[in-house]
Amino acid sequence: MKYDVIIGLEIHAEINTLSKMFCSCKNDPFYSQANFNICPICLGHPGTLPLPNQEAIDKVLLLGLALDCQINKISKFDRKNYFYPDLPKGYQISQFDLPLAYQGVLEINNQKIEITRIHLEEDTGKLNHPAGKNYTLIDFNRSGVPLLELVTEPVIKDAITARIFCQTFQQILKYLEISSANMEKGEMRCEANVSLQIKNSWRRTKDGKIVGLKNIKPNNKVELKNINSFKSLEKAISYEIKRQSKMLDRGEEILPETRGYNEKKGETFRQRVKESGADYRYFPEPDILPIKISSEQLKNLKNKIIELPHKKKARFIEEYGFSPDIADILVDDKNLADWTEMALSELKEWLSSSGESWKNQRIKLSKLLADYLISELFKFLKRDKVSIRDIKISPENFAQLILLIHQEKINSSSAQKILEIMYNTGGDPVVIMNDNNLEQSQSDGKDLKEIISAIIKKYPDQFSEYQSGKDALLQFFIGKVMAETGGRFNPKKIIEIIKNL
Ligand SMILES: [Zn+2]
Repeated sequence: MKYDVIIGLEIHAEINTLSKMFCSCKNDPFYSQANFNICPICLGHPGTLPLPNQEAIDKVLLLGLALDCQINKISKFDRKNYFYPDLPKGYQISQFDLPLAYQGVLEINNQKIEITRIHLEEDTGKLNHPAGKNYTLIDFNRSGVPLLELVTEPVIKDAITARIFCQTFQQILKYLEISSANMEKGEMRCEANVSLQIKNSWRRTKDGKIVGLKNIKPNNKVELKNINSFKSLEKAISYEIKRQSKMLDRGEEILPETRGYNEKKGETFRQRVKESGADYRYFPEPDILPIKISSEQLKNLKNKIIELPHKKKARFIEEYGFSPDIADILVDDKNLADWTEMALSELKEWLSSSGESWKNQRIKLSKLLADYLISELFKFLKRDKVSIRDIKISPENFAQLILLIHQEKINSSSAQKILEIMYNTGGDPVVIMNDNNLEQSQSDGKDLKEIISAIIKKYPDQFSEYQSGKDALLQFFIGKVMAETGGRFNPKKIIEIIKNL
């Protein structure tokens, strides 16, 4: 391809504070009754005075610190002027030249993606267009909900990296308990600016603009908006790269436009063309004093930064030998990651106390634990739609179960039975194993051999048929032995004895 792909992201997320950004209304934008959580301030009545929400400011600062941003010690709010029916004041209180945080970085796949800024603003109301009606309804429950916006430098070169950036950012918002960041609900909204430039014909200025070299005019960028899943974002960007490169190949001009994405057709489509850069006539919000951020406040916030999901994933791979896919599943939800790690540390202790070396077995055991967690325990969690934090199985008991499997005290069918009992009632897997007679016989197979001989005597015809080559009858004998012994013996051992006999 003779073009460089240039992608920048703008991500909005609603912050999960108790009250709205500038008034004391409840921050509950999805409340079932429209226009319930409202007051003169968030309805933009003249003469009302906004008062900034400290919790929202702290959460954006926390995010900024977690993403290695610089913090503006003096920050301020500005008015962004535009008219739209969901914006009752005729302007949005946002931040212009002094955002709370700037110049950060998030590493994705060994690539450092620079973050231009993170600022704080207020969300708008929500327009509802009832199907088949010639009017639109406005719900102001969302009006004035604190909203953060993160902007990256245009340094992303492909659709997959853009998608992973958004996913990782969502995980970080959840880990730090800043936002629920559900994309389908619109709590998180990702927009991508995509342009293609002929190689060696452009450069990026200090303030992130693309300018042409040698009198070449850079191609316009297209803004992809209103995309409600990570998959769609990736597909929309890929489609856009192909569309633009075909147009440029034909010598056509790319219009500076906003495009949406049609999931059914797998295509982007024009929403509106931008005739000129929007002029929002920003000016400092006269009703709110500038915000002074103290070193003390930043120190306290720094103490709240926990290990972020992308770093946890790297550590899980390194420390436990998980595959990247498994590590992804485990770190996606912080509760699950914490629970897994508690179980792993219990398993390590159990193993050491039984005289085995953790170091030599950690990869095998971590895999066994993750397998049982993801393919067995998840079945129950999905079926009952419960979170791992609400189940009756303690990480310690789960680790013990894994140890029983590892030591071949139980076979996989007994393990599943024990796990189900643990899930339903909680409790110690060793007690459950003993109470239900599920321990796999540890004998040398002497008594098993006697049991099998007796069964063969009982079914002489079937046995001679088996001997003369009817292999399918092996299953018949295994079934009889299993029934007789209640599944206590390892099927491999049973087969071995029958074959010897
Ligand atoms: Zn209000």
